[in-house]
Amino acid sequence: MNLFLLNGVRYTYLNNSDLPAFRLGEINLNIDKQEMISILGPNGSGKSTLLKIISGVLVPQFGEVLFMGNSITKYKRKEIAKHIGFVPAFSTSIYPFSVYEIVMMGRTPYLNFTGFEKKEDHEIVAEALNTVGIYELRNKGINEISGGEAQRAFIARALAQKPSVILLDEPTAHLDLKHQISVFKLLKELNENQDITIVIISHDLNLAGSFCNRAILMRNGKVVRDGKTIDMLTQENIQDVFEVSSEISTEIINGEAKVHVHLRTY
Ligand code: ADP
Ligand code: MG
Repeated sequence: MNLFLLNGVRYTYLNNSDLPAFRLGEINLNIDKQEMISILGPNGSGKSTLLKIISGVLVPQFGEVLFMGNSITKYKRKEIAKHIGFVPAFSTSIYPFSVYEIVMMGRTPYLNFTGFEKKEDHEIVAEALNTVGIYELRNKGINEISGGEAQRAFIARALAQKPSVILLDEPTAHLDLKHQISVFKLLKELNENQDITIVIISHDLNLAGSFCNRAILMRNGKVVRDGKTIDMLTQENIQDVFEVSSEISTEIINGEAKVHVHLRTY
């Protein structure tokens, strides 16, 4: 069964005069369990909007989003939060919670009416902190650690939700090279070892080309290409979608295709 199915989805933002400011769609998409998908496209192409529609945060004016076979609008927010983890783009303007408190927020959908955490919740938070490798930072403030560590904390918060899918909006945007790679490696491990579906918006074609099996290319509110990463990251598609010329090379490592994109800067 598809995890997500988008049928004829259309979403329009209106401007102050109630005129269409941006149109997304029509989008038809299916996302299966175990996929690791990148969403690629220039600024303003509708990537974040699409991710919000997939997660049920935005409800399309036309078409439907099915999650595990049922309309996503039929699920309560709490129910969705037990299945879908969301990692927002890096933000510095967050209240100075501790890392532990941030990750414990992932348990909110599981707490009963008293709102008290149980032993199990603390165990799950500890496990999530260990998985992303920041257990020793748990008592630090979220603003007292590096961007890479903070991004791991938000991934741990998503993990504490015990989700079947994690959606990420440019999670590596402000990280240095080593931490960008390590976040993608971590996501790949979660995808392979914990069967968590990963959908990640990124501007890094090489990380998408190395770690994601499928790429969804967007331009002007539409999905213009969708398929195996190796078939999507071609000179023609990159020219067409990003208006940048490039050279592509591929290699097979451990049976998996890695696509390397060399952007031409001249
Ligand atoms: P991307 O993530 O690909 O950069 P977005 O999905 O964030 O693109 O935005 C697509 C377009 O929709 C942009 O032109 C943006 O200005 C517009 N947009 C995004 N959010 C809103 C909103 N809340 N109200 C009106 N317009 C919006
Ligand atoms: Mg965006």
